[in-house]
Amino acid sequence: MNKHNTILIDCDGVLMNWNQSFEEWMITQKGHIIADNTQYPIHHRYDISPREAMDCVAHFNDTQWIKYLDPLPRAVPIIKSLYHDHGIRFVVISSLGGDHYSADHRRHNLYEHFGPAIKDIHCLPTNVSKMGVLKSFAPGHIWIEDHVNNAVIGAGVGHKTIIHTHPYNLHEAIVAFKDDTTDNMMGCVSNWRDMEDKILDTLGAM
Ligand SMILES: [Mg+2]
Repeated sequence: MNKHNTILIDCDGVLMNWNQSFEEWMITQKGHIIADNTQYPIHHRYDISPREAMDCVAHFNDTQWIKYLDPLPRAVPIIKSLYHDHGIRFVVISSLGGDHYSADHRRHNLYEHFGPAIKDIHCLPTNVSKMGVLKSFAPGHIWIEDHVNNAVIGAGVGHKTIIHTHPYNLHEAIVAFKDDTTDNMMGCVSNWRDMEDKILDTLGAM
């Protein structure tokens, strides 16, 4: 697999706006509102118990909402132009959960918005590390994540890692970038316009 035309990418918080839909579902279905939007862990973000947070995420990920997530702003035109103008395709590595009907919803949602720019989709159970899938690709692929631990894992196995930042991961991302000893952390970006530049710069330097 050519590492110049295949990018490894997370789904929620990078391609799709999972948080926006989850927030709406939490209010309407569970009566929970965000307590602190600078927190990545859901139990901290909503100020609920870790157990309830885990149950809410698992429940939400198994609903039809996953079929109708919106892409992050400008992700669609930029990914389509990376595909059409540069031949770049994306392998999605997602910790959605192990349910195969939920995975079908995810596939439907991604192909509907991004079409043939999506080369493959790996849906892992939420508690399974992305390490195995990341290691199955030769070192040197671009890897885009918003979960800082998974970003660090990818950099550790040799992938050129870009963190998509949000209020909930910004502090952690800056620390990980500063503490990096692999030279594989390519940067933190907060929107798809900057992401496009970062991808093309990274490919240009390879
Ligand atoms: Mg994510």
